Amino acid sequence: MSKGKRVGVLALQGDFREHKQMLERVGAEAVEVRLPAHLEGVGGLIVPGGESTTIGKLAREYGLDEAVAERYQRGELAIWGTCAGAIWIAREILDYQQPHLGIMDIAVRRNAFGRQVDSFEADLEITGFDSPFHAIFIRAPEIVRVGECVEVRSRYQGRIVFAAAAELWATSFHPELTGDTRLHREFVGKLAK
Ligand code: GLN
Repeated sequence: MSKGKRVGVLALQGDFREHKQMLERVGAEAVEVRLPAHLEGVGGLIVPGGESTTIGKLAREYGLDEAVAERYQRGELAIWGTCAGAIWIAREILDYQQPHLGIMDIAVRRNAFGRQVDSFEADLEITGFDSPFHAIFIRAPEIVRVGECVEVRSRYQGRIVFAAAAELWATSFHPELTGDTRLHREFVGKLAK
């Protein structure tokens, strides 16, 4: 089944507005998703950074986890989780019990880069890009394991920070907080295929 042309941003908590602006900059029709009905015609969904426990609780309360999983399983939805969003879509979260979607075959460790140095910036090499991507990390998770069908597209000091499967992306960092639209453009471009 083909995907809808709109791109949704899960707008329960976190920095969804910045993602929406990036989507608009790359020419996509962006919609805020707060209820299952808002997924109508949506072919891709970005789950923003924020607080993964809050996002997980609210998504469950509004029936969004079920609705998102169902559309993904029918092949109607690609999903990209950034930071807290990556935690929400991960199959396994180390050391924490919290409601989450759990559809991507990766394991993550929350706040993995240390509480002292909460936030930092780094230039990353990303598979498929011919120049470094300036990335902002804020109390970021590390992807500690990826399944067989998941590609590692970037590492920071040897640790996985971008994992990609056919219809699922997980980034530890915040690509919506820099001016670099390459990842948003690629995500939107994938939906058209
Ligand atoms: N530390 C947050 C969490 O575990 C994620 C932080 C972020 O999204 N910037 O949910």
